[in-house]
Amino acid sequence: MSRFQNATFYTSVNDTKDLPQHLGIEVAFAGRSNAGKSSAINTLTNRNRLAFVSKTPGRTQQINFFKLDTEQFLVDLPGYGYAKVPSSIRRHWEKLLSDYLQTRESLRGLVLIMDIRHPLKSLDIQMLDWFAPTGKAIHILLTKADKLSKQQANITLKDVSLYLNSSTYPQCSVQLFSSLEATGIEDASIVINGWLKNN
Ligand code: GDP
Repeated sequence: MSRFQNATFYTSVNDTKDLPQHLGIEVAFAGRSNAGKSSAINTLTNRNRLAFVSKTPGRTQQINFFKLDTEQFLVDLPGYGYAKVPSSIRRHWEKLLSDYLQTRESLRGLVLIMDIRHPLKSLDIQMLDWFAPTGKAIHILLTKADKLSKQQANITLKDVSLYLNSSTYPQCSVQLFSSLEATGIEDASIVINGWLKNN
């Protein structure tokens, strides 16, 4: 947990060829736009505005790197699923994301953020399908869990778990999360720290 709190902005990248090389170990965060990804990163790092840097208009297609220490990075991937996106931007997004997820050697695991009220949308499945063949770990945060009753949240958790177990994503785990109520932080931190330690 404490190492996340030392996160500082490192760099933004808009093209696969500009990805920094030989950085060490990375954990990436992805999610539909508005799912709560920035809030989750800020909650996990205990920083109010860290990930919101990336929300400046015009910077939304960028990959943002946050440095934890000399060889560890959290990577904020561009949000996806905007209703009206020109096809050129969509193609740019697809290439940037698919290249990064499929070929990034230093990437240890993917944290996929989903609004608990709208899990497993087609673009979320697309992300799973790009990343799962690498065999690397995926952890889903069903965020905004505070928006549902405890019972309803647990039903969704079970449904998503069942889907993952019965599909082709055996390396995928899932948990409840709420940035608003600061719940699920410890469980998520344990998973992410485990990936970062696994050098
Ligand atoms: P992003 O586009 O995925 O980075 O999403 P944001 O982190 O900007 O969040 C989108 C909206 O959802 C904002 O209005 C947040 O305040 C809200 N939000 C994010 N996380 C939570 C949460 O855990 N609970 C609730 N109730 N709202 C949240």
